[in-house]
Amino acid sequence: MNHKVLVYKGDAIAAYGFGDPHPFGTDRHDVFHAELDSAGLGDGVEYGHPGVARVDELALFHTADYIDKVSRMSALGKGWLDDGDTPAMPGIYDAAAAVAGTVLRAVDEIMHGNHKRAFVPIAGLHHAGREHAAGFCVFNDCGIAIEYLRQQYGVQRVAYVDIDAHHGDGVFYSFEDDPDLLLVDIHEDGRFLYPGTGAETETGSGGARGTKLNIALAPGADDADFTVVWRRVEQYLESMRPEFIILQCGADSLEGDPITHLALSEEAHASAAASLCRIAEAHADGRIIGTGGGGYNRRNLARAWTRVVQSFVETH
Ligand SMILES: [Zn+2]
Repeated sequence: MNHKVLVYKGDAIAAYGFGDPHPFGTDRHDVFHAELDSAGLGDGVEYGHPGVARVDELALFHTADYIDKVSRMSALGKGWLDDGDTPAMPGIYDAAAAVAGTVLRAVDEIMHGNHKRAFVPIAGLHHAGREHAAGFCVFNDCGIAIEYLRQQYGVQRVAYVDIDAHHGDGVFYSFEDDPDLLLVDIHEDGRFLYPGTGAETETGSGGARGTKLNIALAPGADDADFTVVWRRVEQYLESMRPEFIILQCGADSLEGDPITHLALSEEAHASAAASLCRIAEAHADGRIIGTGGGGYNRRNLARAWTRVVQSFVETH
């Protein structure tokens, strides 16, 4: 096995974004890669080229009607995919399919034993539901990857860990009644931030009750608060013994993000990533994928994602 961390880079995923003045601009990819280059991780990192998800791969998670709708709206190139957050940019179908496809190719590389750890910067589009876009998210690459791990590789117990400031409602509600999808979501309390969900009482439904851990932080919560709640996350994951970990490490939970109110630093992201690598080593043959998620302050996203990759490189 190659122990280098596989980091994805390329125009196909950089193209996912919504142009000025939308906060999710297409500059985010290059801002991150410039910071990663300057971090001097050298031989610890290998670069991978983006893939493209086929329709049948998107359909592992999304409905055929929704995939059709995105295709039609993308060709039209105007209007909205939701109620006013996610514009139907020309070509958005191709960019979203590239983001999802890149995460699936990262899954392949890990499951084939070529790498243990991978990072996809523009992925982690956690608000998209099975039949709708939401909150800047068109295709839910994490949801697709969870279904793909099960269908393609028979990996059933996947842990989805989300430290983006926003609740990952598209993943949570799609697997709410699924006891094998282990979910941790640390986010700003929904009473103060979109999408308003993710109360701590939401632990899964039916037979899946108790398999999800939602942790709501008050506005202004900092690294000390994060450290306290992370102990619960470690206990939960150690007891649940996941076979594969997907981290959504949105950088909008850092202080200074223009659309949220948390006050973490990149240290939270670095320590969460290191902790998850250790849990993956103990239970999941080391298998972990990081996805960038949100983050609208460019300096924050560059630093937070770079520190996640650094933890992936340096944690043994
Ligand atoms: Zn977010």
